[in-house]
Amino acid sequence: MVGLSAFAFTRKAFGICSSTQPEWWRRPNPGHREILIERGGLTPKQLAAMTLEGWSIARQDERDERFGALTVQYPKRRLKAGRSMPVCGRCLAEDATPYLRRDWMIGWIAICPRHRTVLTRTCPGCERKLVSRGLRERDVIELQRCPRCEALLTDVGAEPAIDAAIKLQTAMLALKRTGASEIQGMGMIEWKAFTVILDLVLKAIWIKAKVNAREALFALILADLALDPDQRLTIDWRRNYGVLVVMAWMLAGWPDRLLQTLGLLNAPRIEDIVAELYDVDDATKQRVLNALGNAGDHRPKPESWQLWLADMVAEGTDFRALAREDTNWVRRDRLIAST
Ligand SMILES: [Zn+2]
Ligand SMILES: [Zn+2]
Repeated sequence: MVGLSAFAFTRKAFGICSSTQPEWWRRPNPGHREILIERGGLTPKQLAAMTLEGWSIARQDERDERFGALTVQYPKRRLKAGRSMPVCGRCLAEDATPYLRRDWMIGWIAICPRHRTVLTRTCPGCERKLVSRGLRERDVIELQRCPRCEALLTDVGAEPAIDAAIKLQTAMLALKRTGASEIQGMGMIEWKAFTVILDLVLKAIWIKAKVNAREALFALILADLALDPDQRLTIDWRRNYGVLVVMAWMLAGWPDRLLQTLGLLNAPRIEDIVAELYDVDDATKQRVLNALGNAGDHRPKPESWQLWLADMVAEGTDFRALAREDTNWVRRDRLIAST
């Protein structure tokens, strides 16, 4: 509106330097809050509606693409270009003055509940990821256009989102805002425990499962949700929206569908997956186990080679004796390991 970059504006208007903390807007410190209210002419309530002050944060849930497959597979991955800036083109088109919605910046939001569509993550012109450099941005931003190729973002045909995923995203936002609330199927749950459950499901799908088992799960979900099998290719399972679809399906038959999923993927025991997750204290672990119900009873089936080996031992094959006779050290090590 004033023809300045976000960086220049926050410095000139409020005297706040955003170079080291480009996302200070999420939870402004008391000094920043005072300046924003005084010079911005805002009421504390108006300011609160623009930040995440008072919202709970757990296990880095505001990280970019937090519940995407890549973040689960490469938790230490750093994004150089800036975080993704998913947008709803129709919301931007309707704005008298286009503005960035706070919810779009949370890190796992994937849907515009107003237009019931999946948010746009890539530019329709250059097909590159839409990114935000936060308040560190030195260029003047025009939100309705891609900063790289200037393609209009307002006339993008967005995919419709499924109702169950829209409902779940709304419930998750309420849960994050309040710290603890009701999730349909699961009952009362804390935000932190919920993030552990999401990670547990993601790990079972993206790290512990074989490709064909994962595909069988997606096919089952599409069939249960009465969606066209072709949606296998239109739903981006690896991103936040895909996770919302998986979880919405699972919560509609909780915890049986989780148990079914773990069996289908032949996932490790719940306790073993949770042990690999960071920042899970004993109290949270207990809350998670309570929320999982009978899914906590899941036990993986031994792989076919393990059954074959067990049969060999039962039939009296003496691997140690075989190892002693073998001169090849690689084979010998394997034979010893088999015992
Ligand atoms: Zn919208
Ligand atoms: Zn572009």
